[in-house]
Amino acid sequence: MKLSDIYKKFDQIGSLVFATIDKDTPQTRIAHLFAHDEDGLYFRTMVTKAFYKQLKETGKVSICGMYPTTQVSHNDEGLPYFKPGYTIRATGDIKEISFEALQAKAAENEMFMLGVKDIEQYPAMTTFCLHRAWGEVFDFDFELEHRDHKLLRTRFCFGGQQIPFQGMRITQACIGCGACMDACSFKAITQDEDQFVIDPAKCDVCGDCWTVCPNDAIEIVV
Ligand code: SF4
Ligand code: SF4
Repeated sequence: MKLSDIYKKFDQIGSLVFATIDKDTPQTRIAHLFAHDEDGLYFRTMVTKAFYKQLKETGKVSICGMYPTTQVSHNDEGLPYFKPGYTIRATGDIKEISFEALQAKAAENEMFMLGVKDIEQYPAMTTFCLHRAWGEVFDFDFELEHRDHKLLRTRFCFGGQQIPFQGMRITQACIGCGACMDACSFKAITQDEDQFVIDPAKCDVCGDCWTVCPNDAIEIVV
């Protein structure tokens, strides 16, 4: 995914959760991204806030949000229903951008003018750029309203970051019984002759395959 496409997914949500670490304790708050360019994704905060202190101390942030709604309803059986949509998250390294650098960007790209105007109104405000990160779009349709599989993950990275593998994979210990494929309601497991394979783009890491495997042949990578 291009940075402009990643930004659009976040911008469509608007208010996002920004997570940081304060010493050894996680902290979250709501904020938003206001611009993007070839260097990364941009957000603002005030230098007087704990958020700023945590950003400066760790140099890291994790951002996530959900579209089109965060509301959860319940079906007749009392089970949760999520309207089809997506979540998106990105985690990585940030750097502070000086006001002069922001002005220079605004001279080239109108999107950054909002940041300039805001800092002129609130002088304690400053800008950060998420410049190296990885993440994913988690597109879900759990009730199969629009397609034949529940989940489609699109993983992305930028700024030189690599995408780490996280999820489930079938190892050499597989004896080809097929129990995992029968158990997977996400249709993430396919069979090619006697080889069973998990598609990480469709896998929810729900663990149903792992619980039924008779030979401990499914590895959890976290
Ligand atoms: S359940 Fe385990 S042994 Fe059977 S096909 Fe799946 S991975 Fe292989
Ligand atoms: S963890 Fe869940 S979604 Fe992933 S392959 Fe196993 S059963 Fe399917």
